[in-house]
Amino acid sequence: MMTEALEQAVLQHKTPIFDHMQAVRFLVCQDKILGLLCLDLVKTQRESRASFVVFLCANLICATGGPAGIYYDSVYPHGHYGSSGIALEAGAAGKNLTEWQYGLASLHPRWNVSGTYMQSLPRFFSTSSDGSDERDFLLDIFTDPNELLLKIFLKGYQWPFDARKARDGSSLLDILVFQETQKGRRVFLDYRQNPVSHIDFSALPFEAGDYLSRAGACFGTPYERLAHMNRPAVDFYLDKGVDLKTTPLEIALCAQHCNGGLSVNHWWQTRIQGLFCIGEASGTHGVYRPGGTALNAGQAGALRAAQYIAAQTPCPLPVPGQLPETVRSQIEEILLLANQTLGSLPENVTELIDSAKNA
Ligand SMILES: Cc1cc2nc3c(=O)[nH]c(=O)nc-3n(C[C@H](O)[C@H](O)[C@H](O)COP(=O)(O)OP(=O)(O)OC[C@H]3O[C@@H](n4cnc5c(N)ncnc54)[C@H](O)[C@@H]3O)c2cc1C
Repeated sequence: MMTEALEQAVLQHKTPIFDHMQAVRFLVCQDKILGLLCLDLVKTQRESRASFVVFLCANLICATGGPAGIYYDSVYPHGHYGSSGIALEAGAAGKNLTEWQYGLASLHPRWNVSGTYMQSLPRFFSTSSDGSDERDFLLDIFTDPNELLLKIFLKGYQWPFDARKARDGSSLLDILVFQETQKGRRVFLDYRQNPVSHIDFSALPFEAGDYLSRAGACFGTPYERLAHMNRPAVDFYLDKGVDLKTTPLEIALCAQHCNGGLSVNHWWQTRIQGLFCIGEASGTHGVYRPGGTALNAGQAGALRAAQYIAAQTPCPLPVPGQLPETVRSQIEEILLLANQTLGSLPENVTELIDSAKNA
């Protein structure tokens, strides 16, 4: 809904939108941005051959999100490739690139199972890859049922994996789920059954017991508690064809946010003059990004970059046909790569990407 509202604002300003253009190369000369090379996805598909478009510009704001495509288990929408790699290739600097947030998420559909999805105390179980050999693997680790229930409850608002909460805290669950999937097993949340044979709500540790009692949710199955505390959370899955009342939900520890990214100054400009980077692609989030700040950060960066660009004397645009030799060779390099890739049949790009993701 945010995206739709922002798109409306862009259209109201009559700003042209060039849709289905995948940025594949920043065109840079002497550490100054001169343009962008894009793959025209529609024309490429229609004509079965790589078709490119060059945009020439004096300023460019990169807002392509995290480099999510490198992960096998990911809660990002499909097709989020990012452009961090091509920005680094063009000479931008990176910052905190190893700082990612991971959390438990459902695989079909991709969605974070935070908040009430955990506070409703679902059962965790695993199976072998073909769905047989169902096991309550957490019960091998937690001998005290109340300790297990507290950890599941806390996972609701201690959602992303946090090394500080790994030893005795709720992030232990992330590790246990991850270990289980590393064994080739599948892990599910089950809202039909409680995680232990009997929940004594009056004996729950205070943090969980007090919350559930205030919410009037000291009863029934995880599904009944979830529906009572947060009906839209149930409806979200129902809309996507998953009825939590009857169907277990497959989960994994998934990549969800890149806290690092391209290094920018206080106007969100990279070390390349005219190349700005905002939102998740910029390394402005800090290792401990508090939940919910990402969307605000994107808008703050966008405003700062726009203010800076608007206050500058406009630079003359590069003239088509008079591009510096370095830029021409940057374009030619990509054309050559595209021809070589398409020329080598059978196509093996998908296979290479899959094996890199699985490594
Ligand atoms: C499941 C989930 C839940 C979240 N919940 C919250 C929340 O509650 N609160 C919060 O603040 N944050 C949340 N986040 C994080 C937040 O959504 C992101 O950080 C934010 O959307 C990033 O915005 P962005 O504009 O930088 O990039 P994105 O929203 O990722 O947009 C990037 C766009 O660029 C396009 N793109 C990528 N590469 C290229 C390329 N090479 N060429 C052309 N286009 C390209 C993509 O297709 C996409 O349209 C959540 C993230 C996930 C995955």
